[in-house]
Amino acid sequence: MSGRRVLITNIGRLFTSTSDGVVTDAAVLVHEDRIAWIGPSGQAPPSAPDDVVDVEDALVTPGLIDAHTHPVYAGDRLAEISMRSAGASYAEIASSGGGIRSTVAATRDATRKELAWLVESRLMSWMAGGTTTVEAKTGYHLERDGELAAIRLLGDLAASPRLPRVEITFLGAHDVGPEFLGRPDDYVEEVVAWCADAGAAGAGFVDVFCDAGYFGPDQARRVLLAGRDAGMGARVHADELDRTGGSRVAAEVGAVSADHLLYATEEDAAALAGAGVVATLCPVTALAMGRMPPARVLLDHGVTVALGTDHNPGQSGTTSMGLVVGLAVHALGLSVDEALTAATAGGARSVGRVDRGTVAPGQLADLVAWNAEHEGAFAWELGLMPRWVWKGGRALVSEDPEVGP
Ligand SMILES: [Zn+2]
Repeated sequence: MSGRRVLITNIGRLFTSTSDGVVTDAAVLVHEDRIAWIGPSGQAPPSAPDDVVDVEDALVTPGLIDAHTHPVYAGDRLAEISMRSAGASYAEIASSGGGIRSTVAATRDATRKELAWLVESRLMSWMAGGTTTVEAKTGYHLERDGELAAIRLLGDLAASPRLPRVEITFLGAHDVGPEFLGRPDDYVEEVVAWCADAGAAGAGFVDVFCDAGYFGPDQARRVLLAGRDAGMGARVHADELDRTGGSRVAAEVGAVSADHLLYATEEDAAALAGAGVVATLCPVTALAMGRMPPARVLLDHGVTVALGTDHNPGQSGTTSMGLVVGLAVHALGLSVDEALTAATAGGARSVGRVDRGTVAPGQLADLVAWNAEHEGAFAWELGLMPRWVWKGGRALVSEDPEVGP
């Protein structure tokens, strides 16, 4: 066997996110971009490593997976967020130029170079926080060429070795395009017509904002089935603002993921479980909206739960999945184990990947050594940071433990 081997050793606790649970005093041998062997930290690995990294009793987990983000935008809505916090109504915000449409205007105005720089710097911050896979949606152009350019931009950035892996989602149905105000069915037909090109441009998923004031279940079904015909997996923004049927459409079309679910019921949980749809929950947004999704009900029905930052300019500016894991404990009522499993193995299910999200031989060597010795730190130090991040066996963030206070 040729290729570079790195031994990561003196792992105090290895959170595998498999039925093996936590392995103490462990070592992991990485061969090229894959995990080759897991064993006790004192034992010699089956083949001699080229490099040894001593993580000094740190907690090691799979690289975190952010399963819901909207990173392709320009401008900000900070004044709007401040107004909303002081009780401004939706109409007042819209009349002051806020809302999704203000982001659409700013994003359409940005040059490709400006937008590329903004998205790249956001992706770097995900990586710095220990997230090695980011699901990333388009949806702030709402016209054909801009949406396709956003898909290609994400594809170009995904090729960079220093950025996280990117799973691209076409969200042309984020809102009705400004040129189609009052004609949502005509806009839906436009989005349907863009699906084949979106898939060809590199989108692996199609998504729709199925909710009050956005798209109804019939419109959502139309977009999702067209996306599926174009070879994309389906995702749904479902039952976030009201219970309008997004979860049921997700179950009916066999979506990979139904997201948010703040108004989902026990009946919806049963439908998602029956259809094998992952529930991707976003606790930062839930806090911003003042309502929590029924996380325990979903888990009790056997639904796989994933987590997302929902990074977007209107509600959630964080790229820290460490923070999201902590909030999944405190706001959603998950145990630390459940939250960390959701942010790793659950995230992999949510983006339809079997090669990541767990620490096992043959898996991608996407690993994080945290600045902590126990996973309980996620629920204590909200926004826990890594000391080392490996993507495909390559160290991208490393903090020399000898340096610092
Ligand atoms: Zn979203």
